[in-house]
Amino acid sequence: MRFLLVEDDRMIGDSLRAALRMEGHAVDWVRDASAAQGTLASERFDLVLLDLGLPQGNGLDVLRGLRGRGDATPVIVLTARDGPGDRVAGLDAGADDYLVKPFDLDELGARIRAVLRRQAGRAMPLLAHRGVSLEPATRQVQRDGQPVLLSAREYAVLELLMQRPGAVLSRAQIEDRLYGWGEEIESNAVSVYVHQLRKKLGADFIRSMRGVGYFLDTGKDKSA
Ligand code: CA
Repeated sequence: MRFLLVEDDRMIGDSLRAALRMEGHAVDWVRDASAAQGTLASERFDLVLLDLGLPQGNGLDVLRGLRGRGDATPVIVLTARDGPGDRVAGLDAGADDYLVKPFDLDELGARIRAVLRRQAGRAMPLLAHRGVSLEPATRQVQRDGQPVLLSAREYAVLELLMQRPGAVLSRAQIEDRLYGWGEEIESNAVSVYVHQLRKKLGADFIRSMRGVGYFLDTGKDKSA
């Protein structure tokens, strides 16, 4: 999943980004309100972690702007303020949840999963294709009813492909979903993940179109 982290505190931002990357998420990090507004207006994320006290504006305005455009991207507010007024304002402005600093990373992880599960109930049903099923809310994958263990990045590649079976995704499109800005990308990383997925899910499950990208076989011949 691709997350946007909006946080001006370098230490907090560093540790949050590291923790989320460990879970296999791509994390883009902006440090002020105006950068957050610009980024959210032009790119799509699966979740936003939003600090309220920010330079160049404040988090509540960022959130109101997002909801004002009808954008339902899940938002968890992170705030050092613990007055009930701030929490209410955050929820009223359209936050899905909030955490008061300092919080521990396990709790954040649990809140993220809960928010994504609720979102899943609305927008991310179980994905299934040719004997393989993937449940976005729990990140569980099965092949012919048997659990398949995937690394975080293998899972991310598979989820992306299963969201649009038959659609051809380029390596660049897959990398965009796997890596945050400035993160070093090994040139053959995507092909390594695809290779691992084929070993676990069957050699024909993911097909390649030479020079174009990867897709899930739907039985229609694309390679001609
Ligand atoms: Ca702050």
